[in-house]
Amino acid sequence: MSQSTETVLIAGAGPVGLAAAASLMQRGIPVRVLERRASLNAASRASTFHSPTLEFLDRLGIAADLADRGHRVEAIHYYDRAEGLFAAFPLRLLVQDTPFPYRLHLEQSELAAILAGRLGDALALDSEVVGVENTQSGVAAAIRAADGTIRHEHGNFLIAADGARGPVRVALGIAFEGADYDDRVLRVMTAEDLAARIPGLASIAYIFDGAASCSLLRMPDLWRIIFRVPSDETDAEALEPARLRARLARFLPEGAAIRIASTDIYRVSRRVAATYRQGNVLLAGDAAHVTNTRGGMNMNAGLHDAEAAATAIAAACGGDAAALGRYAATRRRVAVEKLLPRTDRVVAAGPAFLATIRETAADPAQARAFVLASSMLDMV
Ligand SMILES: Cc1cc2nc3c(=O)[nH]c(=O)nc-3n(C[C@H](O)[C@H](O)[C@H](O)COP(=O)(O)OP(=O)(O)OC[C@H]3O[C@@H](n4cnc5c(N)ncnc54)[C@H](O)[C@@H]3O)c2cc1C
Repeated sequence: MSQSTETVLIAGAGPVGLAAAASLMQRGIPVRVLERRASLNAASRASTFHSPTLEFLDRLGIAADLADRGHRVEAIHYYDRAEGLFAAFPLRLLVQDTPFPYRLHLEQSELAAILAGRLGDALALDSEVVGVENTQSGVAAAIRAADGTIRHEHGNFLIAADGARGPVRVALGIAFEGADYDDRVLRVMTAEDLAARIPGLASIAYIFDGAASCSLLRMPDLWRIIFRVPSDETDAEALEPARLRARLARFLPEGAAIRIASTDIYRVSRRVAATYRQGNVLLAGDAAHVTNTRGGMNMNAGLHDAEAAATAIAAACGGDAAALGRYAATRRRVAVEKLLPRTDRVVAAGPAFLATIRETAADPAQARAFVLASSMLDMV
């Protein structure tokens, strides 16, 4: 492949910035990834890779590596605490739609590590982007090193993949429209095998007790048990041991006795950038959209942004002047019209929602449409 003379600066070495970099490099376009931290973020965050994302990561040549590290999920289960399993959605219903008719559960930090391994010198750590300006020939970035010194780098384009706080988005004056959700997310990690308590349990399962619910999610080395914490309960109250045990007991057989490996609690927001483009700067990933984490869609949508942004920049390098505008309009529309409404729907509860899930699972055509939507195959 011929090497382009255009260079792309990327702010942020999270999964989205790194995937955009890998996709551009694959097209022969030089990149420079600027990361504020001294090392990649190793925190436990997103867990789920959906079918179209696995297709993209396969195009990058890393799907097999991820599969070796991850846990393959074959079905989604819905339980009522009193009644037991009432709806099961096998992901093999997608066999005609994708070469990856399943989900992969894996920490996002594993993806980031694999991608960073490909970048070599193109990844600059301790490099915080503190200013961005569109110029006649591209984009100028001011970058602060760990010792406080400022340097300037120039690229033909810049992808802002610098996370939800989005310093580049803020510097460009682009609004991040939306609000926080009222509920926060409480995660309890356990090394116990929850399938031993609930025989036949799928690797992603939702358990309902009236209007409340919890999610169970099997990772390669542990299970995550995820609750919504209402706004009238403080973080300290939610993490209080007796209350934690009562929550576990409400949803899981003998739940109070579960051995807890760790817990955490975080806030979720629903926001989208007013525009995904300003001049030769494109926004992608959390810098462009955030939403609740149930259904595991936000990082996946960010990875889809990454490939779309790389495609648009490659087209712009080839003389297609409208490509960046198309990227911005298309990916923002996907977030507003599909991603945000869908992630709102999956946190619904109540008798009407549960009746719909029951009916959907019982009808093969509706069940296939359900797994297509929950796998994001219509969002790329
Ligand atoms: C606790 C938690 C749990 C989550 N769980 C889930 C989940 O289960 N499912 C799901 O889909 N999503 C989940 N998410 C969201 C998911 O982690 C994000 O959607 C995903 O990380 C987005 O990737 P990104 O690359 O866009 O941003 P990030 O991963 O946030 O990466 C942004 C990078 O930019 C760097 N950066 C920031 N500012 C600058 C700057 N000025 N200059 C240079 N670099 C900069 C940051 O250090 C960081 O490395 C969770 C998030 C959190 C916080």
